[in-house]
Amino acid sequence: APAPTPEPADSSAQPQAVLVTGGNRGIGLAIARAFAEDGHDVVVTHRSGEPPEGLRGVRCEVTDSESVDAAFTEAEQLLGRPVQVLVANAGITRDGLLMRMSDEDFEAVVDTNLAGAFRCARRAVKGMIRARAGRIILVSSVVGLLGSAGQTNYAASKAGLVGLARSITRELGGRGITANVVAPGFVRTEMTDELSEDLQKTYLSQIPAGRFATPEEVARVVRFLAGPEAAYISGAVIPVDGGLGMGH
Ligand code: NDP
Repeated sequence: APAPTPEPADSSAQPQAVLVTGGNRGIGLAIARAFAEDGHDVVVTHRSGEPPEGLRGVRCEVTDSESVDAAFTEAEQLLGRPVQVLVANAGITRDGLLMRMSDEDFEAVVDTNLAGAFRCARRAVKGMIRARAGRIILVSSVVGLLGSAGQTNYAASKAGLVGLARSITRELGGRGITANVVAPGFVRTEMTDELSEDLQKTYLSQIPAGRFATPEEVARVVRFLAGPEAAYISGAVIPVDGGLGMGH
């Protein structure tokens, strides 16, 4: 068998060049801040407005390959080297019942959540293959494998990320690149705060942990997957859902 070639023991000390899509708010912002706190070099993508305070940003529309390409080029200039860690986090929902879902709502969600991650991964691996090292982390959702009434488009897009990560693992696992999926459950954000108390109670009753996740709890798992301790984890789906999706 080929001799294992583990990462150098001190690689935790080396700052990584990290790109987080949709890192201007929500979970993406928490992820970007977690990496920055650990001393890594972070660039976030944002579609409009300004980058968040204290972080460098580049504009990116993940449904547009040219925009993705330009954002990576700009990010790599800011970082001074190719992206070593890609966190594909940008995502949208357009909920509706199957019978009434428009082509446009289905396609927009798949184009952003699944094809957007594909476009970013395709661009990211150029530098990673050359470096013979890289980490790709795709932000999915518990509903990708559990399913969710009213979210056929969203759940299909999030399930697709599993096939994407596993195929990247098979194609590029021999070149020091890992690709993993993080599947959050309900995360405490402005969105969940706005839900009625009744609805919050209904959701909470289904979660063994009895509470929603904080964005930071998701961020720390993403950061772990990019670190030296996760060098041998690839093609995995890591739930961060308080037990909501167990067994799926
Ligand atoms: P938010 O809606 O707060 O943020 C979404 C981010 O994605 C924003 O930065 C947004 O940019 C960006 N984005 C959306 N569409 C595009 C696009 N076409 N091009 C570029 N950027 C885009 O979402 P959350 O932080 O809640 O979610 C982040 C990820 O986590 C998503 O993939 C979501 O599916 C997933 N998730 C969330 C859960 C939750 O409970 N919140 C649970 C499970 C998974 P802009 O600011 O310009 O709109």
